[in-house]
Amino acid sequence: MGKPVVLIMAPLFAPALHELESTFDCHRLWEAADKPALLRSLADHCRIVVTNGGRGIKADEIRLLPQLALVSCFGVGVDAVDTDYCRQHGIIVTNTPDVLTDDVADMALALLLGAIRQIPAGDRFVREGRWPSGPMPLTRSLQRRKVGIVGLGRIGLAIAQRCAAFNTEIAYSGPREKPAQPYRYFADVVAMADWADVLIAACPGGEATRHIVSRAAIEALGPDGVFVNIARGSVVDQAALIDCLASGKLGGAGLDVFDGEPRVPQALIDLPQVVLHPHQGSGTVPTRIAMGRLTVDNVIAFTQGKPVLTRYPG
Ligand code: NAP
Repeated sequence: MGKPVVLIMAPLFAPALHELESTFDCHRLWEAADKPALLRSLADHCRIVVTNGGRGIKADEIRLLPQLALVSCFGVGVDAVDTDYCRQHGIIVTNTPDVLTDDVADMALALLLGAIRQIPAGDRFVREGRWPSGPMPLTRSLQRRKVGIVGLGRIGLAIAQRCAAFNTEIAYSGPREKPAQPYRYFADVVAMADWADVLIAACPGGEATRHIVSRAAIEALGPDGVFVNIARGSVVDQAALIDCLASGKLGGAGLDVFDGEPRVPQALIDLPQVVLHPHQGSGTVPTRIAMGRLTVDNVIAFTQGKPVLTRYPG
């Protein structure tokens, strides 16, 4: 019997790609000159797809692979995978939860402190030789501020734990109240934004959370407020965010994710009170190694007829 066939949708972390290609009969969709032809050629024997959180796989592609039984996703967010279609057709979806939680939560705090203490502006201030002419303007403080977290899951909880070290008051919103957690619960994001000085998005992307951080929520956060997004670009009304930042209705923002990334609107780039980062919340060497390990191990478990390690939803 030949090696199991694996279709890889997009470039992966190199060690994971190398291990997959040395273990299985892999096909790189992103390099195929004729992608529909490659999909057709795999139709009767490809049971495994490997993808990443940004690329995912859509229903119209899955339909071309009627033998598909496993989608192993490099990343915890599976909003780009048609998980409804997979569930309806008995296709297992796996992702890479937990191993990235701490690094992504660290990034949320880095963006928050960067935006609130104006760290990139300070860096520019020193590099551009402006310091000898006088001190940099004073900034806001994180101390004793109110932080509202949209989505108190694994990453949201890790963010809350870090925020507690800054003497902040913490609240969260989400579909379910979590009575075991010591934080205040808001069923409504706008009400939480009205209460908060800082709003941090840490929920999944996809249709259910599209623009959950609405213009009303951004305006409720207010001119002294700061918004941080490590979730997905789709969770915030990006046009309203730009508008409110430009007009002073929102104080600042720290953004790791964007609608339409990797392209970032020039209007955001032009705003000095915004800290921009290229979707690298999980982008550290040890975390990417751990994500790659899980992605490959899920494929190996599946091919050996064993239970996968991290099935979505858990
Ligand atoms: P998780 O443990 O599943 O947590 C997601 C949380 O969001 C859960 O608490 C869930 O509530 C909540 N939620 C679901 N629907 C919501 C809604 N409509 N409104 C508000 N909250 C909602 O996932 P995680 O591991 O923390 O990851 C969260 C997300 O972070 C991922 O889906 C991904 O989009 C993003 N992420 C970004 C990066 C990056 O590099 N920037 C890296 C990793 C992940 P319940 O607990 O009530 O279900």
